[in-house]
Amino acid sequence: AREQVIAANWKMNKTIPEAVAFAEQLAAAGDFAGVAVVLCPAFPALAAVAQAVAGTRISVAAQDLFWEDYGAYTGEVSPIMLRDAGCRYVIIGHSERRQYFGETDETVNRKVKAALRHGLTPIVCVGERLAEREAGETFAVIERQVRGAFAGVAGEAVASLVLAYEPVWAIGTGRNAAPEDAQAVNHFIRELIARLYTPAVADRIRIQYGGSVTPENAAALLVQPDIDGALVGGASLKVESFTAIINAAK
Ligand code: 13P
Repeated sequence: AREQVIAANWKMNKTIPEAVAFAEQLAAAGDFAGVAVVLCPAFPALAAVAQAVAGTRISVAAQDLFWEDYGAYTGEVSPIMLRDAGCRYVIIGHSERRQYFGETDETVNRKVKAALRHGLTPIVCVGERLAEREAGETFAVIERQVRGAFAGVAGEAVASLVLAYEPVWAIGTGRNAAPEDAQAVNHFIRELIARLYTPAVADRIRIQYGGSVTPENAAALLVQPDIDGALVGGASLKVESFTAIINAAK
C-alpha cells in the first residue's frame, strides 16, 4: 500500500513567526505515524520551519524552484538552496504558477529534472480548467501535462515522486471535485503512468488530490483507491483543520 501524503500549501501566507508557531503546534499534535505530512511555507520561512520540525516525521517543501544550480538569475532560488534550507520536497507547476507566472509544461519538466538531480522529491501539479472540463478535454489536458512534466525522466524517479491532481475550478472555490470524479482522473493518471513506464512504477507513484479539501470532505476523497493524499490550501492555514485532514488519511 502507498503511504498517503498530506501537504499544506500555504501559498503566500504566514510570516516566519506564524509559520514556526504552526509547525510547533502541529508537531505537538501527534506523530502522524503512517502518513507523510509536509508543510510548504513561502521561501523566507523554509529554514525556520525545517528547524522547528527537525526530529519529527513532518517534512518541509518549497512552493517552487529554479532549475539552475546558481548564477545570475535575480530573484530565483536553486535546488541547492532548498536542500540547504532543509527542504525534502518541492511543489512544481502549481496552477497558480502556470496561470500568473508563465509556467509551461516545458518549464515544469526542467524543474522536475533539477529537483530530482538534487534529491528533492517533486510534487508535480496537473489539472484542467473549467472550460476544458466542460469541453470534455479533461483527460487530454491531464495527459499532455503529465507527458510534458516527465519527458526524459526515468521510471525509477517517477515512481519516487508525487503527483497532485488539482482541477483549477476546485482551487479556492469551496467546490471540491466529487470523490468519484477525482478518483476517475487519478485512475486515468495511474494507467497513463503504467503505459508510459511500467505497472510497477504506476503502482508506486503517489497521486494526491487538491482543490477545496476540508475536514468535512477529506475522508470521502482519501478513501478512493487511487487518491494517495491531499494538497491542501485554505484548510491548511489552521492547525485544527489541517490536523483533522491528516487524521482522515489514517
Ligand atoms: P484550496 O485548498 O484553498 O482550494 O487550494 C488548493 C491548492 O491549490 C493546493 O495547492
